[in-house]
Amino acid sequence: MKRVSIFGATGSIGQSTIDLIARSPEAHDVVALTGGRNIARLAQDAIRLGADLAVTAQDDLLDDLRAALAGSGVEAAAGESALIEAAARPTDWVMSAIVGAAGLAPGLKALEQGGTLALANKESLVTAGPLLMQTARAHGATVLPVDSEHSAIFQALAGEDMAAVERIIITASGGAFRDWPLADLERATVEEASRHPNWAMGQRITIDSASMFNKALEIIETHEFFGIDPQRIEVLVHPESLVHALVGFRDGAVMAHLGVSDMRHAIGYALNWPAREALPVGRLDLAAIGQLNFRHPDEARYPALRLAREVMARGGLSGAVFNAAKEAALDGFISGRIGFTGMAGVVAAVLDRIGSNEGLIDARMSLDNIRAADHMARRLAEEEMRERVT
Ligand code: NAD
Ligand code: MG
Repeated sequence: MKRVSIFGATGSIGQSTIDLIARSPEAHDVVALTGGRNIARLAQDAIRLGADLAVTAQDDLLDDLRAALAGSGVEAAAGESALIEAAARPTDWVMSAIVGAAGLAPGLKALEQGGTLALANKESLVTAGPLLMQTARAHGATVLPVDSEHSAIFQALAGEDMAAVERIIITASGGAFRDWPLADLERATVEEASRHPNWAMGQRITIDSASMFNKALEIIETHEFFGIDPQRIEVLVHPESLVHALVGFRDGAVMAHLGVSDMRHAIGYALNWPAREALPVGRLDLAAIGQLNFRHPDEARYPALRLAREVMARGGLSGAVFNAAKEAALDGFISGRIGFTGMAGVVAAVLDRIGSNEGLIDARMSLDNIRAADHMARRLAEEEMRERVT
């Protein structure tokens, strides 16, 4: 029996994880499931999977959760401290699938228990890569990538020596606006940005795919997880999204990872690792697809990519600043306060304003200092957005 907990169980990744776990209930002992406002789904899954505990991140929804779980024997809890308490419960495998910087603290707490953390929450690595990896080492815990590109790299690297790696190429679908005239991007709506050409994901990551802030986060994620120099990380736009990543070695060989677009592959790989078990995902039919296309990303269309390079060059807590400013700008776009292209402008302005603040950026990488950098970045992003509106 593998004891598992799922953070962000009600989201897109969380639900795909549950889909896999529910197929072999005899092999999984579910400890905790967490969610946000969707109490019905959280309670339903917790009861169906026989979880010990269900946690909503929303303090005000504790009574609702209690009511939904009444008589089931599943314990109910709410709020940030309850998430941390849930992460401290002994498990063998934890899925980190909360969206945003909120995923960091539970992930760190889970690593302190020494098990395996399946990491979908890329924001953890962007805001606190060194802290996360060092916490894992200190507690003998394992971090496995779940982001499709990073799972692909991890698989391509199996049995290889990192010293022989020349470059890593991650692919990008190009998002909702890859073929739009540049001049039209300014007027892109939230609804248009929320329609991914190739797959269904949570709304935030879907909009981040259209702006390529998602790929910007993933470049940093690659740097932090695999410890590879930023200049060895490349991005290729690949509209078919069938090649997820490629690793180039010093002898010129390139190992590519291909598969249909279904996150249950990367989730299942992390769930079964180091074994490779059968998974209910579609099979690739290359003859039916006929051709695969690749091109360099247009930096004018995707300024987020340049910002990621700046962040890696600056180091320290600039990743936390970058991520928080991006989250605030994304909120600003979703709520109609700024336009689509305004997001990169806000993030760039926040990085400019904070980048020279050595006290903040070069502070020790602790959870408290990360929070301080995060709050400062959100505050400055608010200021920038207010200025843009008036
Ligand atoms: P989602 O929006 O569908 O789900 C997010 C989950 O986090 C929900 O359970 C929600 O209740 C919870 N949540 C939101 N805010 C929270 C907070 N402040 N505190 C606690 N819980 C909170 O998101 P998703 O698409 O499943 O993505 C989850 C993570 O996985 C993100 O980091 C995303 O970048 C990453 N990821 C997703 C995909 C994908 O295909 N969806 C692919 C690769 C990586
Ligand atoms: Mg990805």
